[in-house]
Amino acid sequence: MELNEAFKTVIENYEKARTQAFSKANPIYQTIINEIPGKIGDLLGGEWSGLKVKGGVGTGNWAQVPWCCLLNLRVTTTPKRGIYVVYLFNSKYNKIYLSLNQGTDSLNEEYGEKEYINILKLRASLYKSKLSKYKKQLPLDNIVNFRGRKADGYSAGHIIGIEYDAMNLPSDGKLVADLNEVLNAYSSLSDYEIKPLDQDEAELIASKYKTIEERKIYCLHRSIERNSSAKKVKKIHGLRCECCGLNFEERYGEIGKGFIEVHHLIPLSSLKLGECRKYDFDKDFAVLCSNCHRMIHRQSDPSDIDALRKQLKVTF
Ligand SMILES: [Zn+2]
Ligand SMILES: [Zn+2]
Repeated sequence: MELNEAFKTVIENYEKARTQAFSKANPIYQTIINEIPGKIGDLLGGEWSGLKVKGGVGTGNWAQVPWCCLLNLRVTTTPKRGIYVVYLFNSKYNKIYLSLNQGTDSLNEEYGEKEYINILKLRASLYKSKLSKYKKQLPLDNIVNFRGRKADGYSAGHIIGIEYDAMNLPSDGKLVADLNEVLNAYSSLSDYEIKPLDQDEAELIASKYKTIEERKIYCLHRSIERNSSAKKVKKIHGLRCECCGLNFEERYGEIGKGFIEVHHLIPLSSLKLGECRKYDFDKDFAVLCSNCHRMIHRQSDPSDIDALRKQLKVTF
């Protein structure tokens, strides 16, 4: 099935599905959860392989607005927070929006019902100002015609995008060209979003990396460490520092339980800005205690654990 046909199926059948009991066996459930994400993955091919594509129709009850999102795992692993790309079907089921949007749930929890909408709007306008060069191809300024619990969040969180008339959906070729454009905007924003952890690190970056490009690459590397699936890395590598052998629970007792830092081993020189790639949790990461982690970042090559181990005076 073509992507535009799958979209049409949702438009034509979703309202009726909502009058029926929520069921995974419902064909429309299958279309949104499996077919559309699968098709988007096929159409994009290898170029954006670090993206996760995920459809949603609600859990237990049909959501008012079905969606399909594309997450850059370097930026966020869930549509509950961060920035991501999403297809949204409006409540009249006559429009589809392709939107660079923001997660609402974590902001709602953090700032409360009254304030989070303002924060979404503020952030959206800030991001919009950084993406003005995409405005021509992605002219959609507001998304409207929403009802339901999440409607205000989707409208406030919208950054940039394009609207499709459900009766007149473009070919898959055009859909993919638009999607690539939104993904380009997404990845250029991701590079802006990368910040050092603290003052110490900011100073280290300033002294060690002379050009803006080099600094961005370093920060990209740090953001991969923060946004990588730390749980998976810990599961594979364990909780013992791979440089000095420290285990936080053995040394600090209960409060150290489960703690270790994740370090990204790909040499900085091989990273490209705006890149989305799949990571190999076994080979591309190591676990380090906080001291070794800080020290390895002071080395000329932060991917060389053996070099740091040779410097060590004390091991655990
Ligand atoms: Zn260590
Ligand atoms: Zn690191």
